[in-house]
Amino acid sequence: MIYCNKLAQNIRIPKSNASILRVRSALANFSCSVTKTSRRHFHDSGRIKAGIRASGVDADAAAGQLNIAVVGAGLVGLATSAMLRKAGHRITIFESSEFHAELGAGIVLPPNGSNVIRKLLPEARWPNIQAVDMRSMEMLHVSGSHIETEDLSEGWTKYPQGYYMVHRVDLHKEMMRLALAPDAMTLPPATVRLGAAIKEINFDTEHPSVTTSTGEQHKFDLVLGTDGIRSTVRKCMLGAEYDAPATQLAHYRWMIDLAEHPSLSWIVKDRASSGPLMFVGGDKVLALIGYPVRGGKLVNCSAAHLDPRDQDSVGWNVSVDRAALQEAFSDWGEKGKTLVDVAKNPGSWQLRKLPKLPTWRKGNVVILGDAAHAMFPTYGQGFAVGLEDAATLATLLPAGTKPAEVNARLSIFEQLRKPRAEYVSQMSSDAYKPPEEQGETGGFLGWLHPEFMEYDPVKEAQAALGKN
Ligand SMILES: Cc1cc2nc3c(=O)[nH]c(=O)nc-3n(C[C@H](O)[C@H](O)[C@H](O)COP(=O)(O)OP(=O)(O)OC[C@H]3O[C@@H](n4cnc5c(N)ncnc54)[C@H](O)[C@@H]3O)c2cc1C
Repeated sequence: MIYCNKLAQNIRIPKSNASILRVRSALANFSCSVTKTSRRHFHDSGRIKAGIRASGVDADAAAGQLNIAVVGAGLVGLATSAMLRKAGHRITIFESSEFHAELGAGIVLPPNGSNVIRKLLPEARWPNIQAVDMRSMEMLHVSGSHIETEDLSEGWTKYPQGYYMVHRVDLHKEMMRLALAPDAMTLPPATVRLGAAIKEINFDTEHPSVTTSTGEQHKFDLVLGTDGIRSTVRKCMLGAEYDAPATQLAHYRWMIDLAEHPSLSWIVKDRASSGPLMFVGGDKVLALIGYPVRGGKLVNCSAAHLDPRDQDSVGWNVSVDRAALQEAFSDWGEKGKTLVDVAKNPGSWQLRKLPKLPTWRKGNVVILGDAAHAMFPTYGQGFAVGLEDAATLATLLPAGTKPAEVNARLSIFEQLRKPRAEYVSQMSSDAYKPPEEQGETGGFLGWLHPEFMEYDPVKEAQAALGKN
């Protein structure tokens, strides 16, 4: 057994076959690579560009329209903006980066996430997302020997909305189009202000305000903190004591372009539908997962390893020397090594999760997405749970919601979302632990665990609205 701690509980990474399921669950959705999107990512559509303009953010919203600030243009901020746009609200997004540096990494989009996109954002153009269907999972020992292949096609019968593997940049671009492109839907687009880092928040209930690093202050009816795991909105609300602690776990990450390495095409069974390969049982590198994204053109590789360095002084996302990467895999068989030998610009991404927070809201300011519940990627649920947050909020704040009603709706939002996200997060970290430490959740419960996949945030929010 290998032990690593510093997280609240010890995380034990077993090497025996008996524990393979747990390792597999812990590693299956880790995914990343190295490319950063260019400024073009925000500007490559003239139509989207129209949404990037200085706005009169303090101007009164029209009757029946809420004036909403969204702090952070990551996946959750953009998805939420797109959904609230549909209710006709006036939305201003503040994004700290000059151009969004969405990581060039893979992400799994499970049925509870795809369900939200299909129901609340039917305008989404799936060909833009270039999703690959997840239909199977092959597990191998690090030596290269086959252990088993799990057939996941049952999931497609139960959840026809889809279980996908996608490139984060493709998903981010499509969420951006839905939030910002004037022609993506009939209602006016959100406005985004780039290079606008929010430094301070005023939590007034009637008129919360945000202050940028340049000292501009803007008032709104509602402020949404979608600024990720290191959220400034959360820090202003709760203080730094609720930051995500280091775990000493990290992921090597890289992307393989199959056009450059056609000899590795065996990894992708079919361009439209395939499944992850997972190597388990390693020592220095605990496991590796590789899966196709971008219509099967790229393979996302991610490998869990222990990083004994002081994580607070090492960057959260850092480059890794290729020779050092190859050394880490030196005890692996040829099959796994072939994926490592072609790694271009590999990086390492620290793994952290947020503790349970005392609250998600203060006045008319609320946090959601990773800002509220950054979790381990064990079940591939992080973004999916953020999409559930967005769908809940959009259902609770339909067209015609008055500013005076917002505070009570945020209370409902928190009552619905906080326990749900805490549950999924707890499950995701319990699945890492040895059975005797797994507590009530019982660890890994399978890829198609119904409590994850069948949650319907719209139904839950409508029922809660009916009761209040
Ligand atoms: C290794 C790994 C693998 C994962 N795999 C999966 C998976 O398979 N499936 C899944 O569903 N989830 C997965 N996740 C989780 C998923 O990536 C996140 O849950 C999701 O990206 C969170 O999106 P977000 O918009 O909340 O935050 P972020 O993507 O972090 O976006 C935050 C945004 O806010 C901006 N910002 C920050 N501070 C400020 C400020 N002060 N002012 C203005 N802007 C600011 C940032 O620049 C950024 O654009 C994984 C996560 C990791 C770490």
